[in-house]
Amino acid sequence: MKLQTKAVHAGDRRKPSPATPSTTPIYTASSFFYDDVETLDRVFSDEEQGYCYSRYDNPTNNALEELLAALESGAGALSTSSGMSAIHVALLTALTDRRRSIVASSALYGATIRLLMNILEPSGVDVRWVDITNLAEVRKAVSESKPGCILTETISNPLLRVAAIDELAKLSREAGAALVVDNTFATPLMCRPLELGAHLSVHSVTKYLAGHGDVLGGAVISDASHLSTLRTLAKTCGPNLGPFESYLTMRGVKTFPLRMERQCANASHVAAWLASHPKVSAVYFPAASNHPDAATTARLFPNGLYGAMVSFDIRDGGRDEVFRFINALKLIVRATSLGDVHTMVLYPAMSSHRDISPAQRRRLGIGDNLLRLSIGIEDHEDVIADLDQALNSV
Ligand SMILES: *Cc1c(COP(=O)(O)O)cnc(C)c1O
Repeated sequence: MKLQTKAVHAGDRRKPSPATPSTTPIYTASSFFYDDVETLDRVFSDEEQGYCYSRYDNPTNNALEELLAALESGAGALSTSSGMSAIHVALLTALTDRRRSIVASSALYGATIRLLMNILEPSGVDVRWVDITNLAEVRKAVSESKPGCILTETISNPLLRVAAIDELAKLSREAGAALVVDNTFATPLMCRPLELGAHLSVHSVTKYLAGHGDVLGGAVISDASHLSTLRTLAKTCGPNLGPFESYLTMRGVKTFPLRMERQCANASHVAAWLASHPKVSAVYFPAASNHPDAATTARLFPNGLYGAMVSFDIRDGGRDEVFRFINALKLIVRATSLGDVHTMVLYPAMSSHRDISPAQRRRLGIGDNLLRLSIGIEDHEDVIADLDQALNSV
C-alpha cells in the first residue's frame, strides 16, 4: 500500500474492542457503513436501528440526547448547535399540523423575540404577546387567537418572573396547542416541564448544563407525540450539535446537579445580602416573600432552590453609576453569558435589552440602574466581598 493510500485507511475504522470505554467516545464520522449493503439499506429505511449519516443520528449525540431525555422525563431529545436553533426547531415542530399562530411571553430572551418578529412573523406565523404570569390575559389571548403553540420561559430574564408551567399546560391542552418551555434558567434540577404537562422543553446547554463557558449548544426534549416530527424536521434542517460539543456537554452534565445546588445556595446568600445593602433599592429573586409570583414559585420550586440568577437596582443609579460599579469589580466576570462556574455580571440596558427603547424598557420594569448577576460556584463570601467593595465605590 502506498503512503497516500495508507494515509486515508491505516488504523481507521477499527471495530470497538470488547472493553467498554468509561465515557462516550467522540464519533466524528459523518457516515457509517456495514459489512453488507443490505443492512445499510434497512437502516436508511428505518426498518433497522442504526447509524448511516450524522445529520440523521450520531452515537455521541445520541448518548447526550438519551441523558437529557432521562433528566427531564422526555420520550427523546434532540441536541442542536445552539439554544436558538433548539427554539427554532421546537417551534417548527409545535406548529406542524397546527394553526400557525403563537401566544408568546413578552419577556422572552432577546434573540427569541427576534426569531419570532424577524423570521417567523414574516413567514406567516401570527404572534400575540402576553404577560405570561397573568393567566387571565393568557386565557383571553388563547381563546381569541386559537394558537398552535404557547411559548414561555420558566424563569424570565432579567426580572426573574416565574411562569405557572402547570397551569399553562392545562390551558394549552384544552386549546389543542403545544406548550413549548425554554427551561434554560430553571434547569432540570428545579423544573421538568414535561412532567408538568408541557410538550417540548428547550435548553441553551451553553449555560448551566455544559456549565463551563466552553460550549455553544442547545437541546429539545420532547414528549412521545412530537418526537418523530422533531427528528424528521432535524434530519431536513440540520441543526445538529457537533460531536465534540456533545462530548463536552455530557462531561458538564455529570457535575451539573452539584454545581447548580451550590450556585442556587450561593444566589440565595447573595440576594439576601443585597437586600440589606443601603446602595441597593430593589432585589429581584424568586425566593423573596414579596415576589409577585411567590405562589407559583412555592408550587414549582418546593426544594428551596430558586435559581442562580439575581438582579438588583442600584439606588438612584444611572448609566454612570452602573459603569463605575462594573469597572470596580475584581472577581466577578463582566461577560454577557450566564450559567458558568464563575460569577458574571450583565447590564441589560447595554446588552440584552439594548435594542429596546428606554421608554419600552421602563414599561418592562428594566431600569437604567438594573444589573443581572449569574452566580457561580465560588465561596459566596468572596462574591459578596467583591460586590460590597464595588457598590461602595459607586
Ligand atoms: C442563551 C439563551 C438562549 C440562546 O441560547 P444560545 O445557546 O446562545 O443560542 C435562549 N434562551 C435563553 C433563556 C438563554 O439564556
